[in-house]
Amino acid sequence: MAQITLDNIAHSFNPYPGSNADYALKNIDYQWDDGGAYALLGPSGCGKTTLLNIISGLLTPSNGRVLYDSNDMTLLTPELRNIAQVFQFPVIYDTMTVAENLAFPLVNRGVDRSEINKRVDDMLQTLELSDKANRRAQGLTADEKQKISLGRGLVRYDVSAILFDEPLTVIDPHMKWQLRTKLKSLHEQFGHTMIYVTHDQTEALTFADKVVVMYEGNVLQVGTPEELFDQPEHTFVGYFIGSPGMNIFPASINGQTLTLGSNNVKLSKGYSNLNGKTEVGIRPEFISLASKEKAGTRGMKFKLDTVEDVGRLKIVRGKIEDVTVNVIVDEDDSIPTEPYAVFDPERICVYQDSFLIRGDA
Ligand code: ATP
Repeated sequence: MAQITLDNIAHSFNPYPGSNADYALKNIDYQWDDGGAYALLGPSGCGKTTLLNIISGLLTPSNGRVLYDSNDMTLLTPELRNIAQVFQFPVIYDTMTVAENLAFPLVNRGVDRSEINKRVDDMLQTLELSDKANRRAQGLTADEKQKISLGRGLVRYDVSAILFDEPLTVIDPHMKWQLRTKLKSLHEQFGHTMIYVTHDQTEALTFADKVVVMYEGNVLQVGTPEELFDQPEHTFVGYFIGSPGMNIFPASINGQTLTLGSNNVKLSKGYSNLNGKTEVGIRPEFISLASKEKAGTRGMKFKLDTVEDVGRLKIVRGKIEDVTVNVIVDEDDSIPTEPYAVFDPERICVYQDSFLIRGDA
């Protein structure tokens, strides 16, 4: 296992890049802790696969270095990096049996036969494939084949890291949850450094200890699921994490007062010297709806649009003056006929030119 350092990595697929826009990865400087479980999360095209391929050695970066512990790996092939990779689609040998497929990476490395048998048996049980151990892979379903691909990565205990590129895309939804949980417990058991690429926030937040949020070739924030939820460092993180994401709208702030249309809201902190584009973010979970009397002076008239029932919660969509605002309430909460929105002042985030500003104490 290894600590992985990305030292000022940038990458352009254009051999003669001119401007910043020619770079698929802009400037990434980050250290992945030995034994950490990370998710690389971001929308399609933001550079997740490019970054993973640079870590694995499938791609050499245009600039910067990749270190495993203190060893410079930048120019080494994946074989020489001692990593396991699991891709979106199964990579297995159709003519081999399930057990032979799982044993293959260990046979290749000259692992002792009795050790191979033990690990293959364990993995067959983990993946619930014991009854198919001696079947050829050829006739298996896409789900089962991908489970074998995962198993081929996980049987190797000696790897520096295991890299997953959207590995559950072809797996059915019920099995997805099961395999994700399994990956997490295998991580706890063996402590491999794991990096898991996905554009699905549920996958990222349930698998990883730390989530790396990417957007347009940049890393915007690295944090625990709680940090990304509570204190998004960038408006994109606020909007991308959560369902629905954070409400973000332009507002003017003067010291400790937020002005939204004709409403003034007292903030828990003061903000001096704001300049540039000022926006305010608040998650739908931290807005409540009350009658005018109950809301008191903190209430802002809320023009209700729709109410969506999503199991134990309701998503209430509406407007405060001309700003669209989503609110999440419990399914049993009743919504007043003339609702007023109340923001929890402790949960209001202030952004300047899209980046979080921490107010004065
Ligand atoms: P997805 O979730 O859709 O797989 P991603 O976040 O993994 O997306 P990448 O595949 O890393 O994104 O792509 C980042 C950018 O680099 C995109 O603009 C993509 O079009 C571009 N790109 C990726 N591979 C190549 C290539 N071989 N040649 C040219 N451009 C490429």
